Amino acid sequence: MWAQLETVGRAPETGGYRRFAWTRTDHDLREWFAGECATRGLEVVEDRAGNQWAWWGDPDVTPGVVIGSHLDSVPDGGAFDGPLGVVSALAVVDALRARGVQPDVPLGVVNFVDEEGARFGVACAGSRLITGALDADRARSLTDVDGVTMAQAWRAAGRDPDSLGPDPEAIRRIGRFVELHVEQGKALALAPDGSDDLTDPSRAVAVGTDIWPHGRWRVDLPGEANHAGTTRLEDRHDAMLSLADVVHATRSYAVGLGCVATVGKVHVQPGGVNAIASHVTAWLDARGRSAPAVRATVEAVTAEAERLGGTVREESWTPTTDFDTSLVSRLRDVLPEAPLLGTGAGHDAGILATHGVSAAMIFVRNPTGVSHSPAESATAEDCHHGVAALTAVVTDLCTRKDAVPMRDAR
Ligand SMILES: [Zn+2]
Repeated sequence: MWAQLETVGRAPETGGYRRFAWTRTDHDLREWFAGECATRGLEVVEDRAGNQWAWWGDPDVTPGVVIGSHLDSVPDGGAFDGPLGVVSALAVVDALRARGVQPDVPLGVVNFVDEEGARFGVACAGSRLITGALDADRARSLTDVDGVTMAQAWRAAGRDPDSLGPDPEAIRRIGRFVELHVEQGKALALAPDGSDDLTDPSRAVAVGTDIWPHGRWRVDLPGEANHAGTTRLEDRHDAMLSLADVVHATRSYAVGLGCVATVGKVHVQPGGVNAIASHVTAWLDARGRSAPAVRATVEAVTAEAERLGGTVREESWTPTTDFDTSLVSRLRDVLPEAPLLGTGAGHDAGILATHGVSAAMIFVRNPTGVSHSPAESATAEDCHHGVAALTAVVTDLCTRKDAVPMRDAR
């Protein structure tokens, strides 16, 4: 399966993947998914957002256990973010059948559409739409860089955009959702003493516990436009110097409070090489394990901005998304050696959890710790550990036996 996907949507100049929702590449990936499901005798049904669900058993009789992830990518993304979860889910079906396991509850494999939001700007659009977290009218009017709306993209893909909307029936079929995903940091690749350790098999996978609280803030910093050649340094009010102070403050408060905080986007006015900046708008992204620590970081940055005559305004805030604690503890029972890991990245599993669906995640070690880049990686051995872990979890959740520790299940 991995070899089949390797070339789909890969840009030769960067080696990264460009798999954007409702494009030709996305169509090819969806066809591939449907084909793999058909090979396994699983019929694919689509919900109102176009997410693809393949069911082994009838989820209208009993809600099922769902595994899977997404096949789309960010611009020049890595091979693993998304596809690893989909491929592993299909591999779990094969493993169960090879072992003669017949699930007592339906087992679903899902391919969520448009998880990265790379084309229309809203991440997890497929899961947000079916849960109602993304309004259908708003979704239809979202545009890509070429000005094509999601509604137009749907029509171009031979679909009726009027069908976009919440899909409580699709949600009702999900008894539990377990998303396997490549880790997007280095927690598993680092030994407790901080050195690289890529061989410890007990750190090949982790059980996800929660998605960190995160938010975005807009920082406005005033200055005074003037000539870059004739204005004495002591006479200047340079908004770029304020920005530099704010960026450094952001870093040092984040370090001190144990968060991550980033200024990755700035808008400078007037924006001339030979003009002192009259105004800078910067955007702050802050996340962390502890919501009060994230808040304290932002408050400290706000105080710094205000000292410089600026303002900070919150644009979005998402509190901690806890995965279902009973499901997490069930995963822990099956995978007793796996570390517990919170994540600073958003996922469809988080959208479903927020909606009240019992959801959890499994992370597979990423030696580089890099994600959303061609440098993202996972070893074949660790990917196989991931499939084994997910198989053990699904075996536990889908059969009415007591939990089988993974060592024995393998
Ligand atoms: Zn992902």
